[in-house]
Amino acid sequence: MSTKYVDDFRTAARRAVDWVADYLENVRDYPVTPRMNAGDLVDRLPKSAPDTGEPFKQILKDFEKVIVPSVVHWNHPGFMAYFACTGSTPAIIAEMLAAALNTNGIHWKTSPAVTELEQVTLAWLRQWLGLPDSFFGEIFDTASVSSLHGIAAAREMADPDARENGSRPNLTLYTSEQAHSSIEKDAIALGIGRCNVRKIPVDAEFRMIPGALVKAIQRDLDAGKRPFCVVATVGTTSTTSIDPVPAIADIADQYALWLHVDAAYAGAAVVVPELRRIFDGVERAHSLVVNAHKWLFSPMDLSVFYTRRPDILRRAFSLVPEYLTPVDDTRAVNLMDYGVPLGRRFRALKLWFIMRYFGREGICTLIRSQVAMAKKLAGWVDADPRFERMAPVPLSVVCFRYKGTDEQNQAILDAVNASGKVFLSHTVLNGKLALRVAIGNLGTAREDVEQAWELVRLATMAAEAWRPGSL
Ligand code: PLP
Repeated sequence: MSTKYVDDFRTAARRAVDWVADYLENVRDYPVTPRMNAGDLVDRLPKSAPDTGEPFKQILKDFEKVIVPSVVHWNHPGFMAYFACTGSTPAIIAEMLAAALNTNGIHWKTSPAVTELEQVTLAWLRQWLGLPDSFFGEIFDTASVSSLHGIAAAREMADPDARENGSRPNLTLYTSEQAHSSIEKDAIALGIGRCNVRKIPVDAEFRMIPGALVKAIQRDLDAGKRPFCVVATVGTTSTTSIDPVPAIADIADQYALWLHVDAAYAGAAVVVPELRRIFDGVERAHSLVVNAHKWLFSPMDLSVFYTRRPDILRRAFSLVPEYLTPVDDTRAVNLMDYGVPLGRRFRALKLWFIMRYFGREGICTLIRSQVAMAKKLAGWVDADPRFERMAPVPLSVVCFRYKGTDEQNQAILDAVNASGKVFLSHTVLNGKLALRVAIGNLGTAREDVEQAWELVRLATMAAEAWRPGSL
């Protein structure tokens, strides 16, 4: 690379690193969500790209002036919406180094480090999660894509002809009413079809009911369908409920179904010894997804996929064009054989930095303290007669509502979010709108949770005042 590029980089990168450090130090001073209308950023930017190159100084200035004010700050300690995703410092450094190396792990030969570090970090994580050594791991971008691979392998096991001739029309998949929408989308993408996805009812704590699963499978068998896969969730999106995996694994065995476990959010919690029990039975799953970009302090994107049947996954996906003939060495893993993507980012580098920088104990302390903060908040909610808790709090998410109308709860949510100090999301439980506080950001401290609760209480007073007597 020419010295001009490198010299320009050196100066600009130093500024950028300082900017990042200042940003992380002062992120609390930004409003969590931007005050803007859709299209505002588009309107502020030129309609065409420049004909001649611009200096980094100008680009960085515009980044700060135009881009940053349009950003939702997922690294803000007041970000308590959806599930947190922290861009932790070791991962930020690793992302920069990975971009500099710009190495592409198509197969072993195109970048041994990408392939081998992925195997090493996922073996380390497997130990942290207490999974058997037989679980083969690889990294995808998102849980949606990881689950797609689990379900594709399930189809391969049940219907090996699908690879050549397309899916049979009668394959049926089972998951709970509370499962993430990605499971249904994956069924669409794989040609299973939405009408062949059975959403099994849940109990009062939003967990799949095993008896209802058996009934649904039996009904389908009687109707000439071919049940092939069940997806259990450990840590559902709305309430973090935990499906009874041991009972579901028994049913999967009985009917020869592939068991995929979606632990995209909650999987990381298993690093904490006292939360280990949420993974009971998961060692019996055929495949599993855990997102490091949810609760392992990795920035987007890093989704970990494990399967104890890599042979079936490989059968589903291996297709080697002549120009990609791999090296003939049994120790050389070629990850392109185990999924759709050919090109592979060096995502493992950030996982390696994260695991080494925090260590198991560091991660454990962080997650444990976030679970404790959620329990504290649940206690405050329970102690205030104006509110009702809508779900148990097994991990770090609290769902609750003001005992008024959905409109009042929406008004409370809007007012809290308009403060710019915290960002909460919502869900609907038992037909009612619930506020949802998800704790998981690396920087979130007890004061931030106290502030969120205070803002909810203040907004509630306003909501009550708008509709006097509605209690
Ligand atoms: N599974 C669960 C349980 C989730 O909560 C989510 C997203 O929040 C997903 C899957 C999808 O994750 P991704 O955005 O990585 O596809």
